[in-house]
Amino acid sequence: MSDELRRTKIIATLGPASDNPVAMQRLLSAGVDIARINFSHGHAEEHRRRCALVREAAQAIGQEVAILGDLGGPKIRIEKFAEGRVELQSGQAFTLDCREDAPPGDEQGVGVSYLGLPADVSSGDTLLLDDGLMALRVERVDGPRIHTTVLTDGVLSNRKGLNKLGGGLSIGALTQKDEDDIRLAAELGLDFVAVSFCRNAEDMERTRALIAAAGGEAAVVAKIERAEAVENLAGIIDASDAVMVARGDLAVEIGDAELPGLQKKIIREAVLRSRVVITATQMLQSMVDAPIPTRAEVLDVANAVIDGTDAVMLSAESAVGRYPDRAVATMARICRGAERQFEPDPGFGAANGNLERTDQAIAMAAMFLAGRVHVRAIIALTESGGTARWLSRYRTQVPIFALSRNEGARRRMRMLRDVFPIEFQAPPGNPLLAARAAISRLHGLGLLSEGDRVIVTNGDHTGELGGTNTLKLLRVGPGGIAEGLGDL
Ligand code: PGA
Ligand code: MN
Repeated sequence: MSDELRRTKIIATLGPASDNPVAMQRLLSAGVDIARINFSHGHAEEHRRRCALVREAAQAIGQEVAILGDLGGPKIRIEKFAEGRVELQSGQAFTLDCREDAPPGDEQGVGVSYLGLPADVSSGDTLLLDDGLMALRVERVDGPRIHTTVLTDGVLSNRKGLNKLGGGLSIGALTQKDEDDIRLAAELGLDFVAVSFCRNAEDMERTRALIAAAGGEAAVVAKIERAEAVENLAGIIDASDAVMVARGDLAVEIGDAELPGLQKKIIREAVLRSRVVITATQMLQSMVDAPIPTRAEVLDVANAVIDGTDAVMLSAESAVGRYPDRAVATMARICRGAERQFEPDPGFGAANGNLERTDQAIAMAAMFLAGRVHVRAIIALTESGGTARWLSRYRTQVPIFALSRNEGARRRMRMLRDVFPIEFQAPPGNPLLAARAAISRLHGLGLLSEGDRVIVTNGDHTGELGGTNTLKLLRVGPGGIAEGLGDL
């Protein structure tokens, strides 16, 4: 049975396409591990309502689903046009007016949400609008006005995003609204908070501090989507629980041709540094309107799985698309197919850097053994989920059943590749009694069969944080009763 488990996790962005109980249940049961609430759109009331909807639907279908709140961040936008939109021709002049009281825009120019922009640009720079659909070349900066030449024909409408090719915008990562949204995320008990346009480790540390101050338990996700973040990648990864390859804005800032190499690099670095990694944006974009993906999209999802991502993400496909649950089911099917192609690291070398903790050392020993004595699964009795995270960094393809009584920990573990969180109240007493109870529970669930060999990791005192210090090699005997192995 565990052969059919999907190891790569799916994040689906919520939106109008799933805003009623029936649609939400269909979406989640198609295979959603984590629901994403996008704080860029909508108000606190809407987010509150969506959260309740996810939890009710998850409860109704008996599935534990985590929730990720994605902060809007300092996305720079143009302001509004008097007519809502303008048509621009390549070669024409266009002025960005960075004054607080800039008049409504027209064919000559438009206001900008970031008043500090003139200090960040100089003549010759390229500014990209609307995810790169429209480009402007900076001619000269004149006080609060940036005079540009339009490089592409096209239509520009209200509030489109603005990026600078090559990065270098000074705007900070957390806006006042982001800070309010962090407090909302804590109040709503969200499991993850994602930081848009983070620049460095300090942005992530600050986010963590704000979550803690608001009484939240959310893990922090760094969205890698600006050039500075790529330069500071190692520090950002170390300061975060997870990173996201945010391909939408990243492609605009660094150029799309750099994207494939960067995706592989970010995934490799994250796993190497024992962190979690998400691959995001336009993965099944054509499914916004069509019931099947393009071949290129199938390859894209599969390649992210083969690169070693923990999770893949849907944005517009699930939020506003015509086929939200179908997109999730399609993604799940492609992941399973790709997982059969994935070749575990034979040298076991990728993730065995510095051992700093006992639970990390036990996880490494367990995975080393798992490949050599052909166990069916690893069973981690874990309080915080820490051991499951260490185990899953090894990418051996051995399923990891992570048994925990802690609901928040189980939800956060839904982001981990190869990990299957299961509710479990360990019996009091010694670690062997807990291991036996765990095996009989998994046997009862149909996840283990008689004769399966398993490795169990746990601590001397169940319930202790970071207390994992033992490893046992056992076999599932008749009736799901654990027995010793004797000779291998
Ligand atoms: P966004 O982030 O969808 O919030 O812009 C993801 C990305 O930029 O790829
Ligand atoms: Mn983005």
